[in-house]
Amino acid sequence: MARVAFIGLGNMGGGMAANLAKAGHDVRAFDLSADALAKAKQAGCLPVASAAEAVEGAEAIVTMLPAGAHVESVYADAVFGHAPPAAILIDCSTIDVATARRVATAAGAKGLAAVDAPVSGGIAAAQAGTLTFMVGGPQDAFDRAQPFLAQMGKAVIHAGTSGAGQAAKMANNMLLGATMIATCEAFRLAERLGLDLQTFYDISSVSSGQSWSMTSYCPVPGVGPETPADRDYQGGFAAALMLKDLRLAMQAAQEAGATTPLGTHATELYEAFVAQGHGTTDFSGIIRTL
Ligand code: NAD
Repeated sequence: MARVAFIGLGNMGGGMAANLAKAGHDVRAFDLSADALAKAKQAGCLPVASAAEAVEGAEAIVTMLPAGAHVESVYADAVFGHAPPAAILIDCSTIDVATARRVATAAGAKGLAAVDAPVSGGIAAAQAGTLTFMVGGPQDAFDRAQPFLAQMGKAVIHAGTSGAGQAAKMANNMLLGATMIATCEAFRLAERLGLDLQTFYDISSVSSGQSWSMTSYCPVPGVGPETPADRDYQGGFAAALMLKDLRLAMQAAQEAGATTPLGTHATELYEAFVAQGHGTTDFSGIIRTL
């Protein structure tokens, strides 16, 4: 078993660090929040006083932070200069592709191996150890990160070179945002046309309009499997996080010269939804505004 540094013990990182401790690793955990540190201690991690202290002597350094600026500053202030040369750096945060590539290049310049490894799956999957990891980086770095990621997830997929994990995450979540809105619109149209919503679900879920947003995350209460719609759109994937990912996707599209009219419109609709005070509402709750 290895010594692992885990920085960022929030909603996602808390469960992920707990699973590494459960697997028998010596997890040195750091977060700015005392509450998060106390929970990590209960979960079998060793709370430490700084990110630099967590990183000292670590074989793997996992970060799960809010955004690119946090990752860049933790790497500059605590990881570079403290990480042993043989450490593998694994950033699981969802951040912009450009920052992910910049961080990997900076790590490489210091002789450190690094991967971007954002996740699909929410807080429940983080706790259950059933996340999907999409990983960007050289093959040897992927091979070294893989055993640690496998202890926190059900699928670990090598997406390509540095930044490719974030690119896959952006494209996937842009698709998710657009299909959720399209699914909500289809239910509203069916309703206006006088269809019973359960009947429409029964037809569409086995027809060409089927998608994950329809059959795994149905935005209509009482229809399909149990989803946040059945809990008044609480819990699940917050609209503010969907908006964050859509904005990152739009930024990446602009940098890459990709045309994404539906992604652009989905971003505008989630911007309006969040501006109306629904940032913490599950993203499927957008059906109420359509
Ligand atoms: P969170 O806000 O609950 O956790 C982030 C943690 O980072 C907080 O505890 C905060 O105190 C800590 N932090 C911030 N700056 C720090 C620093 N300099 N040093 C140490 N700790 C610091 O967020 P989360 O929901 O756990 O999400 C983390 C990442 O995972 C985000 O990039 C998010 O987009 C992504 N993500 C979230 C979900 C989800 O459902 N919540 C799903 C997939 C991906």
